[in-house]
Amino acid sequence: VSFTVTVLGSSSALPTSERNFSAHVLNVDERFFLIDCGEATQIQLRRFKIKFGRINHIFITHLHGDHILGLPGLVSSYGLLGRKNDLHIYAFAELENMMNDFSKFLGANLPFSIIFHHLDPHSTQLIYQNSKMEVYSFPLMHSSPTCGFLFKEKEKERNIKKEVVDKHQLSVKDILDIKAGADLINNAGKTIPNKDLTISPHKPRSYAYCSDTLYHEAVVPVIKNVDLLYHEATFSESNSKYAQETMHATAKQAAQIALKAKAKKLIIGHFSARQKNVSVLLNEARQLFPETYLANDGVVFNVDQVRGT
Ligand SMILES: [Zn+2]
Ligand SMILES: [Zn+2]
Repeated sequence: VSFTVTVLGSSSALPTSERNFSAHVLNVDERFFLIDCGEATQIQLRRFKIKFGRINHIFITHLHGDHILGLPGLVSSYGLLGRKNDLHIYAFAELENMMNDFSKFLGANLPFSIIFHHLDPHSTQLIYQNSKMEVYSFPLMHSSPTCGFLFKEKEKERNIKKEVVDKHQLSVKDILDIKAGADLINNAGKTIPNKDLTISPHKPRSYAYCSDTLYHEAVVPVIKNVDLLYHEATFSESNSKYAQETMHATAKQAAQIALKAKAKKLIIGHFSARQKNVSVLLNEARQLFPETYLANDGVVFNVDQVRGT
């Protein structure tokens, strides 16, 4: 079952010929979650062959142009394509006003509903869940209210061994109980421990995104032990004064957060156009956290490979 992150854009304030604005897609079992939506995100979705009709949930970290200006265009295209499914947008309340103004201005009568879910900039919140996973928002520290997101699979039931069902002629109720962790008392009255009947399920997988933000240690307990962390790294150490001024992080700071959170793998991105050579950032991060990788547009990170399973 897939759990992958595709980077659609990895630049900060201004795009370059190689890097589009912030956006990426998380694919969990062929459900697609779009995270941030900088200008021309819909073109990147096409370019990297993401089935964008399958995106029903969009998460927006904050209301700076480089993270939102692709939304009106994407929504307008969904309208032209005759989309029917509801589109859920998780963002600060002001985005709803902006999108309503755009719709009025364009006179667009969309054939689908947009359902807004307003984020809380002050505390960690469960903002979405389905039968398989949960999504949390948590506060970051930036020049405008900003949230990061944590995507986490739910704890799964144990898998019953195939041969056990026939051998003990289990009823549906027995099977449900055993999957939930119960032992079995067989016809001879003997207790068979659950561990002999079942195999452990896939460990729940997790992914966290922290952009845009200063070095902000308060996120560490929220994202503790995350499999894959995507942290912004707008500047190198030599440009750290710009990082402070614009309330962004350096690559080294991203690595410090990954280290403290015991993340398994780190992606750095949101690079400043000032950083002509991002390998400098990669080296600075890897000195502290060797499992660091660059968010280049179009790169796909597979959480299962991170875990070595
Ligand atoms: Zn930004
Ligand atoms: Zn920003």
